[in-house]
Amino acid sequence: MSENTYNTIIVGGGIAGLTSAAYLSRAGQKVLLIEKNKECGGLVNSFTRDGFHFDAGVRALEDAGIIFPMLKDLNIQLEIVKSKVSLGIENEILHIQNLNSLSEYRELLIKFFPESEGEIDEVLKVIQKIMRHMDVLYGIENPLFKDLMHDRTFVFKKLLPWLPKFIFTIGKINRMNMPVEEYLKRIVKNPSLRDMISQHFFKNTPAFFALSYFSLYLDYFYPKGGVWKLPEALKNKILECGGKIKTETKIIEVVADKCLLKDQNNITYQYANLIWAADLKTLYKTAKTEGLSSKIRSRFESVKTNMLKNRGGDSVFSLFLEVDEPLESFKKIANGHFFYTPSKLGLGETHREELNSLLINFEKVEKEQILTWLEKFTRLNTYEISIPGLKDPELVPPGKTGIIISFLAEYDLFNKIQKAGWLDKFIPELENRVLRVISDSVYPMLKDKIIAHFSFTPLSIENRVGSSEGAITGWSFQKHMPVINKIQKSGRSVLTPVPSIYQAGQWVYSPAGVPMSVLTGKLAADKVLKQVRKFKNR
Ligand SMILES: Cc1cc2nc3c(=O)[nH]c(=O)nc-3n(C[C@H](O)[C@H](O)[C@H](O)COP(=O)(O)OP(=O)(O)OC[C@H]3O[C@@H](n4cnc5c(N)ncnc54)[C@H](O)[C@@H]3O)c2cc1C
Repeated sequence: MSENTYNTIIVGGGIAGLTSAAYLSRAGQKVLLIEKNKECGGLVNSFTRDGFHFDAGVRALEDAGIIFPMLKDLNIQLEIVKSKVSLGIENEILHIQNLNSLSEYRELLIKFFPESEGEIDEVLKVIQKIMRHMDVLYGIENPLFKDLMHDRTFVFKKLLPWLPKFIFTIGKINRMNMPVEEYLKRIVKNPSLRDMISQHFFKNTPAFFALSYFSLYLDYFYPKGGVWKLPEALKNKILECGGKIKTETKIIEVVADKCLLKDQNNITYQYANLIWAADLKTLYKTAKTEGLSSKIRSRFESVKTNMLKNRGGDSVFSLFLEVDEPLESFKKIANGHFFYTPSKLGLGETHREELNSLLINFEKVEKEQILTWLEKFTRLNTYEISIPGLKDPELVPPGKTGIIISFLAEYDLFNKIQKAGWLDKFIPELENRVLRVISDSVYPMLKDKIIAHFSFTPLSIENRVGSSEGAITGWSFQKHMPVINKIQKSGRSVLTPVPSIYQAGQWVYSPAGVPMSVLTGKLAADKVLKQVRKFKNR
């Protein structure tokens, strides 16, 4: 093989691409992983500023029966701690310890909505039911990461008894695919109560996925040293197994019939198999299909049309704070992973109808109207607050605290404001309002103690990882998904119309996140290896 020719090339060094590359290089394949940024990790990444450690993407990780089995299978040791979660509304804060915390959650909601006790009990019944489904779903290590040929004990003692329960549960889950907002409307009349339960989820999140969050809160863990330790460990595994990684290299063209890639410097790379583990709209826009059979081309065009007419899901705005106040002050209030809502009123239509109307009429809308909307949006929103130092005290300078405050944010708003030329004015307006809301409520000590602050918008996410509409977990939820959204069909999610091109990551299955990206990364690697074996046996 010549220097730039590989068995498999993986485009995208996020968690999905790293997983594929680790498995393929372990199997002895000649592998190249291409990543456009200086560091791998994509939306699982961290950075240090002025001695403060911050996680720029996901704040903590969920095992979901996938991450730990993958680490074990690849013989990767990762030092981890539990990432404890707190939930807060106004001045009431609940620290989630175990399954019994669900009854404290009930008390918390009843304190704010005493007239809705019956409805709260109904919702809790559903959450408990879903938690039982989750126990089945994640009840055993994901078989994809087990050696089923040799691990007989796993097959006979765990997998076979689990399968019928799994199939039964899948049926139940599929029946709860409707948007959580719609689902809750059937049970809960008070819109503020509905908001307290669900406004921190992406718009139209499937009810099952959203209401499974109590189980997921208990599942969160944090690698010591920050979330970047996970991609770092995978990167080291790839290099240890002889795989190659090329960073600061952006693929701008895929010539499908010649199995060729072209980067920004016009350097070409030849592959037998390609795994595309980055934004899928980019793949379908950059791939040239001339020379392929008319059947494949027409199938490719139809998938492309479907992809391009859909959009990425919600994005986030993240505010990073360097604070001259010790960790102990924050520890007394909440855990290092904290979902906080400063007002029990809830967003209502603020993030939907009202924002939509501003965006539709953007050209006619005054800046003041947007700022008035922003005032309400920041007062009524739910914030995800992460304090890395509360999970690992090594991550901050002594006596100081680093804080990340984030919330779901609409890409189109930032995009339109940027095009209108006042993004640099809008960002401080937003930052100051968030700071005011948080320091007037849960963390009053922030008032005079901020050493420095800065933020990332949905546009920063789009620029950094090339994610359509700055989306952080792939496609927005809608009736007709452009990708597979049923777990029993997940094996097919990594296939594309072109036999030598596979796909992996958050854009190939919905709903997605870190565990699903890892899973599809492994599925894609398995498909490639199956193909290689088939070819050898010919
Ligand atoms: C704030 C935040 C909170 C989150 N919270 C959670 C959570 O609680 N639970 C959860 O499960 N998930 C969460 N997520 C989502 C999760 O981080 C992502 O879904 C997951 O990391 C996606 O991984 P990926 O490998 O599919 O894609 P990405 O991480 O997007 O990786 C794609 C990679 O491809 C590279 N790339 C793109 N285009 C090219 C090109 N043309 N050439 C070369 N390289 C290219 C990019 O630079 C990037 O490194 C969160 C994300 C964020 C940002």
